Amino acid sequence: MRNDDLPRRLFLARTGQFLGLTIASPYWARGQQPPGADPFTLGVASGDPLPDGVVLWTRLAPDPLHGGGMPRESVEVEWQVAGDEQMSRVVQRGRATATPDLGHSVHVEVGGLEPGRWYWYQFRAGPHRSIVGRTRTAPDPKLALDRLSFAFASCQHYEQGLYTAYQHMAEEDIELVVHLGDYIYEGGVARDRPRQHNSAEIISLDDYRNRHALYKSDPHLRRAHALFPWIVTWDDHELDNNYAAAISENDAPREQFLERRANAYQSYYEHMPLRRTSMPSGSSLRLYRRLAFGDLAEFSVLDTRQYRTDQPCGDGTKPQCAEAFSPEAALLGGEQEHWFLDGLQRSNKRWNIIAQQIMMAKVDRGRDEPAFSMDQWSGYEVARARILNFLHERRISNPVVLAGDIHSNWVTDLKLDFADPGSPTAGSEFVGTSISSGGDGADADPRAEGLYAKNPHLRFFNNQRGYVRCVVTPKQWQSDYRVVDYVTKPGSGIKTTASFVVEPGRPGPQRA
Ligand code: FE
Ligand code: CA
Repeated sequence: MRNDDLPRRLFLARTGQFLGLTIASPYWARGQQPPGADPFTLGVASGDPLPDGVVLWTRLAPDPLHGGGMPRESVEVEWQVAGDEQMSRVVQRGRATATPDLGHSVHVEVGGLEPGRWYWYQFRAGPHRSIVGRTRTAPDPKLALDRLSFAFASCQHYEQGLYTAYQHMAEEDIELVVHLGDYIYEGGVARDRPRQHNSAEIISLDDYRNRHALYKSDPHLRRAHALFPWIVTWDDHELDNNYAAAISENDAPREQFLERRANAYQSYYEHMPLRRTSMPSGSSLRLYRRLAFGDLAEFSVLDTRQYRTDQPCGDGTKPQCAEAFSPEAALLGGEQEHWFLDGLQRSNKRWNIIAQQIMMAKVDRGRDEPAFSMDQWSGYEVARARILNFLHERRISNPVVLAGDIHSNWVTDLKLDFADPGSPTAGSEFVGTSISSGGDGADADPRAEGLYAKNPHLRFFNNQRGYVRCVVTPKQWQSDYRVVDYVTKPGSGIKTTASFVVEPGRPGPQRA
């Protein structure tokens, strides 16, 4: 794919006038970079919108796939925010320092903006200007908001498919993108795939940086970042397949794995539009947080990886052993779970969106004997029951769970007792498919019939690539399952393969 294939309008708006006419950093003054070495190769992004501001992100990397190509010194970056795409009505401007310790990433927390409106932004470093990005502030929290539209996505294995889904997402009438994890994959190079990874399995900080940079070399991904603010959380592959807290996939020594975790977490921060509250500290990074949109909706963004206990029963998809029912088994950890439930209890928003990684419903995926994924909430029965009971008993207003991880589309009723179809429904769940992981997929899937037969709370299953577009109003939630026909070659169109609605006060998605 070439950049030329993209609509160019947004990318060509380079007319903004920066006021800092003096060259701010000795680095640029010394002219160590050839004039053509654009440091903005990774694009721009914004995220975590508040009513008065948003995070603006970029990372200076003139040589993105080889450590970035910046010297070990700090560099000044100028930024500005404007009310128009031509950057002529500048409303905020400032300077930020890109430090080598954080890979010359820049995270600007802009304040003083007006709620619920679009803005445009641009960076400058020395003689170089970034493209102009577009972002949007959250509405006033007291506003009776009549509509919120967003798309959620996950699982974008670079080798397994092209980001055609993002190409189409750019055309959607949405205000926000929510990413539920597997933004990168840590594995080495595989053969016979549409694209290739740039190294063996990633371990070091440089490895992780180069991998993030490879993923951001995709123009459709960069464009989706440049067009909308994103709310991101991670799953396992940002570090290591199916890890649990300090336990790696292949049981690496704890200290060694925590060192790797520090590399992965730091690099994640460096490449995402996250606030200072998510600044990594050693091998920890606080990712769980809340974001509100008027009186209409609140996102509880969860992290089901960093604090979980090990997958029970030896992981995998299998019958549940006793370990899956252990009261000590945790997905959120005590502190996060307390924060989460406390927030739900306090929320006065109409829709309470739980944005997290893994399928919450209990879905039997077995052929002959029952089989449940031990990496999902079904490996953590007591924790799941605690949360679903809480949603039901405390009458939390319209809980909607979003998930990714399993590279397929699912819609479920979250039952208090999944074994009893007559049991109350505590919430609605929408699991979104992958952007590219798993390759083309197919509309007809031989597993579907058995899945529906064994799981009466399963409303929809589909194995194609894409994302889910959600339009939320006070009267209705609608999820449109947007799918592409193929990802192993460019050019697929996109269509809505199914739509589901949820009515307030009536948990459980209904086919639209
Ligand atoms: Fe995945
Ligand atoms: Ca995953």
